[in-house]
Amino acid sequence: MQVKVVKFGGSSLADAEHFRQVASIIKADPARRYVVPSAPGQRFKEDTKVTDMLYACYEKIRNHEDVEELYQKIKDRYNGIIADLGLNFDISGELEYVKNAMMHRSGRDFAASRGEYLNGLILSKYLGFSFIDAENVIFFRENGTFDEEKTNKVLAEELMQHEKAVIPGFYGVMPNGTIKTFSRGGSDITGSIVARAAAADLYENWTDVSGFMMADPRIIENPCAIETITYRELRELSYMGATVLHEDAIFPVRYAGIPINIRNTNEPEADGTMIVAETPYYDTQKVITGVAGKKGFSVITIEKDMMNSEIGFGRKVLEVLEENEISFEHLPSGVDNMSVVVSTSCIEGRREKLVSAIRRMVRPDSVIIEDELALIAIVGRAMVKAKGTAARSFDAISDAGVNIRLIDQGSSEISIIVGVEERDFNKALEAIYSEFVK
Ligand code: ASP
Repeated sequence: MQVKVVKFGGSSLADAEHFRQVASIIKADPARRYVVPSAPGQRFKEDTKVTDMLYACYEKIRNHEDVEELYQKIKDRYNGIIADLGLNFDISGELEYVKNAMMHRSGRDFAASRGEYLNGLILSKYLGFSFIDAENVIFFRENGTFDEEKTNKVLAEELMQHEKAVIPGFYGVMPNGTIKTFSRGGSDITGSIVARAAAADLYENWTDVSGFMMADPRIIENPCAIETITYRELRELSYMGATVLHEDAIFPVRYAGIPINIRNTNEPEADGTMIVAETPYYDTQKVITGVAGKKGFSVITIEKDMMNSEIGFGRKVLEVLEENEISFEHLPSGVDNMSVVVSTSCIEGRREKLVSAIRRMVRPDSVIIEDELALIAIVGRAMVKAKGTAARSFDAISDAGVNIRLIDQGSSEISIIVGVEERDFNKALEAIYSEFVK
């Protein structure tokens, strides 16, 4: 029989109404055996996520402020869901325990993790599934990194004991027994880890959008959804800020070759987006899979006559960056100049130091740092086959009256990166999108 791991985000479990919807999705397919929930998210725009309330509680306790009123709101969220579902389950003991543990300094991550823990308990009762506490099956190493081998072994064995189970997302345990969370949005990672351990056929990630869009809907009105995307394309788009799935959620399933299906809890009949290792299929109409971009980059341009013949020039420049613990994003270079693109926040407060270190190391004719650069990634596996994608993109950008500051294309040919002034960012994105889609 097929096995599907299903993860539901916070907005999919924000209230009893959504719990009902989630249960009907799970019950509609017996292969949906392992469920990973987030904490209750926003019910409406101004609402506060339970995770944020828990972080706020932690801060209050740390500052010796009274937490009663705020904690009552958290209790109300969970009790409200239980009452609305008509569930015969008393969670008050658990809620008291969590509050006491927070008062006794059980840590910031412990506080945050309880959002998923409590929601998982309720969901398991509601579905009639087993509850597997993530603290018994998801492990971190001493240095805080995720321990994939131990987790995979222990979790796989545990899952085999349960026909159907709920495993709360977002957290695991440190070797000393304290709770540690992944970074924000980390339930996506738990879902992926569970999918790998269950050797699942599919990892369904249920959220509040119908999959990945070809472009950011805040910039492009009603962008088309992406039907199928490869892990590599997704990495390129996520890196540039397209967020639907946590960046690190790709690795466990990618390792195991399990596809991810992004689905919409509020529109379960929509197919959503399939994320796969490889696919021969591509949309011949569109050529590109998506376009995404980010602001906030700086370019360090170093010029020196005869740079091209100076052996070790590039290494020395990169050594300066390394010594200053700055990672670089791109490295476009010319005959007598080399540019290093870095994120502006990384060099803040260290500009002078950087420039003088580069001067000392390579004795250039000039070094300048320019800010307010935006990078745009035009991504598509079909580019390898379709000629002229770069030309079409550049023409579209220049027809929109936008100056291209830099271009970078790796030899893998799945993405072209262009750099434009931040003020031209939206215009350039719109130009690219309409060239390929409309
Ligand atoms: N509840 C956590 C957060 O808000 C984790 C998650 O939802 O994935 O970041």
